[in-house]
Amino acid sequence: MSDIQMVDLKGQYQHIQAEIDQAVLNVIRSSAYINGPEVKDFQKELESYLGVKHVIPCANGTDALQVAMMALDLQPGDEVITPNFTFIATVEVIALLGLKPVIVEVDPHTFNMDPEAVRAAITPNTKVIAPVHLFGQCANMEEIMGIAKENNLHIIEDTAQAISSDYTFSNGETHRAGTMGHFGTTSFFPSKNLGCYGDGGALYTNDDQLAEKARQVANHGMKVRYYHDFVGVNSRLDSIQAAILRIKLRHLDTYCAARIAAADYYDAAFANIPELTTPVRDAKSSHTFHQYTLKTQDLDRDALQQHLKSKGIPAMIYYPVPLHVQNAFSNLGHQKGDFPITEQLCKEVISLPMHTELTEEQLKLITSSVIEYIEQQL
Ligand SMILES: *Cc1c(COP(=O)(O)O)cnc(C)c1O
Repeated sequence: MSDIQMVDLKGQYQHIQAEIDQAVLNVIRSSAYINGPEVKDFQKELESYLGVKHVIPCANGTDALQVAMMALDLQPGDEVITPNFTFIATVEVIALLGLKPVIVEVDPHTFNMDPEAVRAAITPNTKVIAPVHLFGQCANMEEIMGIAKENNLHIIEDTAQAISSDYTFSNGETHRAGTMGHFGTTSFFPSKNLGCYGDGGALYTNDDQLAEKARQVANHGMKVRYYHDFVGVNSRLDSIQAAILRIKLRHLDTYCAARIAAADYYDAAFANIPELTTPVRDAKSSHTFHQYTLKTQDLDRDALQQHLKSKGIPAMIYYPVPLHVQNAFSNLGHQKGDFPITEQLCKEVISLPMHTELTEEQLKLITSSVIEYIEQQL
């Protein structure tokens, strides 16, 4: 059996090596390294895959968030509501632009932004709600979009972990993650569900004017070359990464199916273990399992992680520290105890290996090692 990894990028590459090598070589030989035809083709193919009018490729997922926020013409002090239990990028960009991050509590079952907490956080200065579709499952968009509409707010969906997840509203309409709000943003960091072999990102929108503004923001504030209408940034996806992404996009549905199959295996193995809560599958959202994250109870989570490590099985804590107690955000004036649900989750969660190459033999070893640890404790 090969070594178990959190994410097996090498194994995945080996299955598509001939296609990838050829595509990369083609770009090198073409010398169209920046904004070449591969970037345009990838943009079109991703638009069609997502069912969205505009995809704007950029340099990474954090830039995608920044470009989206810059395109909304926000003013210093404007408030952006975002969840506490997540990766730092969303809240970092808010702070970097001189906006005010308003961190809210999450739902203890889905780990996603709690709409009631969003409602309670709205002030006259609120301009944007920025949900993160965590671990591969959409936040409660029906409620969040209702709140945004009532209060005339913009929505930026951070879909870095949930590309290709589908959300179904009560009227039966289904939309892909990132295509419901004013902007969706994503990352093609190698370990994401659609990852390239370096850095990459994109934002999406169905709004023609917002798309034009975002393109201009990402291109030094210019529409006409060397005429700069405002201060922008330089954020591009390069042609080699686009060529790789075009190939991987064709495999994305198969990759998702492999992740879901691994999640199903884990779910079945842990179904009757009271110390473990398997990931909740929200009826309105598909789950594309960027992470397979268990909640533990009456269990020394860190000792479980150590036990797995001793058997050669990696497991990670996403996320160990809530945003509101990070040193970077001490100026927001929060204290330990302010967000009990997020604080509890940071103590209870553990993410198991999740990728497209997991074999049944590996899954068997992972699940039996988890169960073995729990039985030793009894
Ligand atoms: C990975 C990630 C990002 C940042 O993407 P980069 O491409 O690394 O900048 C943003 N938000 C979330 C939720 C992520 O998981």
